[in-house]
Amino acid sequence: MTTADFDIVEVIRAKRDHGELSDAQIRWALDAYVKGEVADEQVAALLMAVLLNGLDPRELSTWTAAMIDSGERLDLSVLSRPTVDKHSTGGVGDKVSLILAPLVAACGAAVPQLSGRGLGHTGGTLDKLEAIPGWRAVLSNEEIVAQLEEVGCVICAAGDGLAPADRKLYSLRDVTGTVESIPLISASIMSKKIAEGTSSLVLDVKVGIGAFMKDLDRASQLARTMVGLGRDHGVATVAVLTDMDTPLGRAAGNGLEVAESVEVLQGGGPRDVVELTVALAREMLALAGITGVDPAQRLADGSAYEVYRAMIAAQGGDPDATMEIAPVVHRVLAESDGTLARLDAMGVGVAAWRLGAGRARKEHAVSPRAGVVCCAKPGDAVVRGETILELHTDDEATVPRALAALDGALDIVEGSVATAPLILERVYG
Ligand code: URA
Repeated sequence: MTTADFDIVEVIRAKRDHGELSDAQIRWALDAYVKGEVADEQVAALLMAVLLNGLDPRELSTWTAAMIDSGERLDLSVLSRPTVDKHSTGGVGDKVSLILAPLVAACGAAVPQLSGRGLGHTGGTLDKLEAIPGWRAVLSNEEIVAQLEEVGCVICAAGDGLAPADRKLYSLRDVTGTVESIPLISASIMSKKIAEGTSSLVLDVKVGIGAFMKDLDRASQLARTMVGLGRDHGVATVAVLTDMDTPLGRAAGNGLEVAESVEVLQGGGPRDVVELTVALAREMLALAGITGVDPAQRLADGSAYEVYRAMIAAQGGDPDATMEIAPVVHRVLAESDGTLARLDAMGVGVAAWRLGAGRARKEHAVSPRAGVVCCAKPGDAVVRGETILELHTDDEATVPRALAALDGALDIVEGSVATAPLILERVYG
C-alpha cells in the first residue's frame, strides 16, 4: 500500500461520522504519520474522532498492531525461563516493581520490566532507581537479554526502537485533550508491553483519587480492553484493579521509595505494599506456569532481596548505598486526637512532586531526596501534635506550595474507621 492509496481527510471523516475504519486504512494512517507524511493537525483530528466515537475491537486490535509494527519487537524466546511482566497504570507511592521483579525472578520466572520516567504526580520507576548511585537505566537489547538469563530480572528504560508510534501519538494526545480515551490508552500501554517481548503480563490498574482512572467502572472497562488486546496478540494477560485513594505504603519520592522497598525485601515494610506485591506475584507466577513456589516465603526468607542486589549491581548500582536524607524536613502535625480517616493520594502525590520528587516537563531533573513520608495511614490512631506527614526537600522555598497541595487532604475523626480493601477486582482473559 502506498501513501497515495488513502486520503487522510477521508479517514478522519469516516471516524467522525461513526464509520468503521478498515485495517488497511488504520495501518496506512499510523505508518504515514510516523514517516511524517501526514500532518500533526490531521492526526489530532483523527484522535479526537476516536476519543468521541471509539474503536471497535477489530479496529483497536489493528491500531495496536500498527503501533507495535512501527518499531522492533524484542525476542526473548532464547531465555531458559518463562517471561512475565507487570505494568501499573501509575499511583502515588507505587514502588511495587522494585520488589516484585526480583521476587518473581527468585521464584523462577524472567521479568523484563521496560519502564518509563514519571510525569506529573505519580513517580516513574526509573526515577526511583536512579536515586541509587551508579545505577544505569539505559541498556542495549543484548544486555537486557543477558541480564534476564543471568539474574532473572531487569528494570530499564524502554528503548526508542519499541513502538515509536506511541511516543509521537502520546505527545500529540497530551496537547490535544485526547489522552482520556480508553482505546487510545489501551493501545498505548499494550503496544509497548507487547513489543518488549514478554509472553505474559499482569496489569495493576489503579483506581481512585490518586489514579488516572477515578472510578471503578472506567477502570474496569480499561482493564477488560487491555486484557482483550493481550489475548489478540498472544500475550496472556490478567488485570488486577487496586485502590489508589490513599498512597501505597508510607513513602512517596524517589530515594524514600527505594529505602522502603529495601525494607520490604528485608522482610519488613508496610503491610499494604507486602500484600499487593505478593498478590501480583501470585498472578504472575500462575501466568508463567510456575507452581509450588510461595512468593510470600521467598520475600520473607531473603531470596528476593538477593536477586534485587544482583539486579542493581548488574546495572552498575551500589545495592548497599544508603539513601541520602533531604536537608529540609518539614513536619505536618495532627490537629486533634482521633483516627486518621482519610489521606488523599492526589494531595500527597502533588506535594511530593512540588517538593522536587517529580517533573512538570520531560527534560526536568528530579531530586533523589525529595518526597513525603506518611507517618500515619488511614485507620491509625493519632494524638494531637504527633507527626502525620514529613515533607522532605532540598529547597525550603518548595514547602508552601507543597502544603497548599495538602490543604484538605486529611481527616481525623473520633472513633475507629473501616479501611477500604486494597484489591478491588480481577479481570482474567
Ligand atoms: N500510560 C501510557 O503509557 N499511555 C497512555 O495513554 C496513558 C498512560
